[in-house]
Amino acid sequence: KIRVRYAPSPTGHLHIGNARTALFNYLFARHYKGKFIIRIEDTDTKRNIADGERSQLDNLKWMGIDWDEGPDKGGDFGPYRQSERKDIYKPLIDELLEKGLAFKSYLTEDELEAMRERQKANHEMPHYEYEYEGMTADEIAAAQAEAEAKGIEPVVRFRVPKDKTYEWDDLVKGHLSFDSASVGGDWVIQKRDGMPTYNFAVVVDDHMMQISHVFRGDDHVSNTPKQMMIYDAFGWDIPQFGHMSLIINTETGKKLSKRDESILQFIEQYRDLGYLPEALVNFIVLLGWSPEGEDEIFSLKEFVKMYDEKRLSKSPAAFDRGKLRWINNQYMKESSADEVFNAAMPQLIQAGLIEKHANPLEMEWMRRLVELFKREISYAQEIVEYVRPFVDGPAEIDDAAKEEMTKDVESTLTVLKAFRDKVATMDFMDATNVLAAIKAVQKETKIKGRSLWMPIRIAVTHESHGPELPESIELFGQAKTLDHLDQMID
Ligand code: GLU
Repeated sequence: KIRVRYAPSPTGHLHIGNARTALFNYLFARHYKGKFIIRIEDTDTKRNIADGERSQLDNLKWMGIDWDEGPDKGGDFGPYRQSERKDIYKPLIDELLEKGLAFKSYLTEDELEAMRERQKANHEMPHYEYEYEGMTADEIAAAQAEAEAKGIEPVVRFRVPKDKTYEWDDLVKGHLSFDSASVGGDWVIQKRDGMPTYNFAVVVDDHMMQISHVFRGDDHVSNTPKQMMIYDAFGWDIPQFGHMSLIINTETGKKLSKRDESILQFIEQYRDLGYLPEALVNFIVLLGWSPEGEDEIFSLKEFVKMYDEKRLSKSPAAFDRGKLRWINNQYMKESSADEVFNAAMPQLIQAGLIEKHANPLEMEWMRRLVELFKREISYAQEIVEYVRPFVDGPAEIDDAAKEEMTKDVESTLTVLKAFRDKVATMDFMDATNVLAAIKAVQKETKIKGRSLWMPIRIAVTHESHGPELPESIELFGQAKTLDHLDQMID
């Protein structure tokens, strides 16, 4: 039975790297008709942020990911928040203590710091040195009772087996092997506040929730031997692990880190800019996974169908913002005007270009503007600058456009005056009538091509490039069009 999970720590908002982990687990579960579970790993209470869990779940939903069990849904293996599972961990920690596989450590933070300093001075890797080395059971008990009497809160440490090798066939990286000495000595399974640590809780939960495969970021590779020790201690089966390659920011050439401000890294930020969820999902799946063939544009459904964990890449994935823009633009082109309009509405409102409760006529006008420009943009926020001149008036005419207008002043004026007269007497100014008017001007003045179209375009829109001119003019409206023409003719 295939059961996989995405286990975010609510210490931040949904990050691109986390979203990728969630997606690959989701694709694996759906492809093999298994179950996909969400578990919140919130034992690091100091680092949790208030809306961390909400951001994780909300943004996954926005991306079109759903799950079978989770904190908001329940399921047979709950609770799905580690902070609510303390009663499950406690007896298991006690069991390890009783069996002598774990012990209470009373070294204070200061003593531990001193140990690290000493090791640093000796050029040793920092590691925990067993504090009861060479002592008998009675001596240990006496030392612990004394520390207890002083009121020192202990941590519980796992007694790491000596000279053991931990190895597994990683589903992404191939065969990996670690010596028990590599984990830095007896490590903490329960903190002073009584909370289990991640490396302990994750094993208990993955076992109890019957997780069959664990796909996660490769920053967890070095945690895996620790986790295998706990599986061994309880005699539990070990799930299959797959550690996904890291993500590199192509702009800096460095590993993507949450501190890197050169790039937007949180799903919310892309959502706010009006990226389409389908496009973002498409982009993220291609970070470290590749389909067969040349095509790159796929829906989540299609990815589910063709997903194959063997095509997860061993080498780092390149986060290339240009590629994301390109993918989003592909989706924009395919989207209906309504979809783009809906995606752009929050930005348009925020930019003050339309009101939230604008009347239907204004809404329709704005929808048509969005439609006119949707091919030009790669994400919805960009529509704002295209639409702005239609609301706030066009920008200043630039020098190149001015030059264009003054190449042949006489011809320019002839065209503009003739066109102005047609617009002024038009009963109803839509794109068809505008086009007819331009054609009529051509007939009358015998001026055609660039010398005909350019003056009109620049006079009305103040730009020398743009989308279809008749549509643009229609959307400026008759009054503004006349106004712009008059300004130019005077
Ligand atoms: N809570 C861990 C993280 O966010 C999960 C790691 C795992 O999947 O085991 O990195």
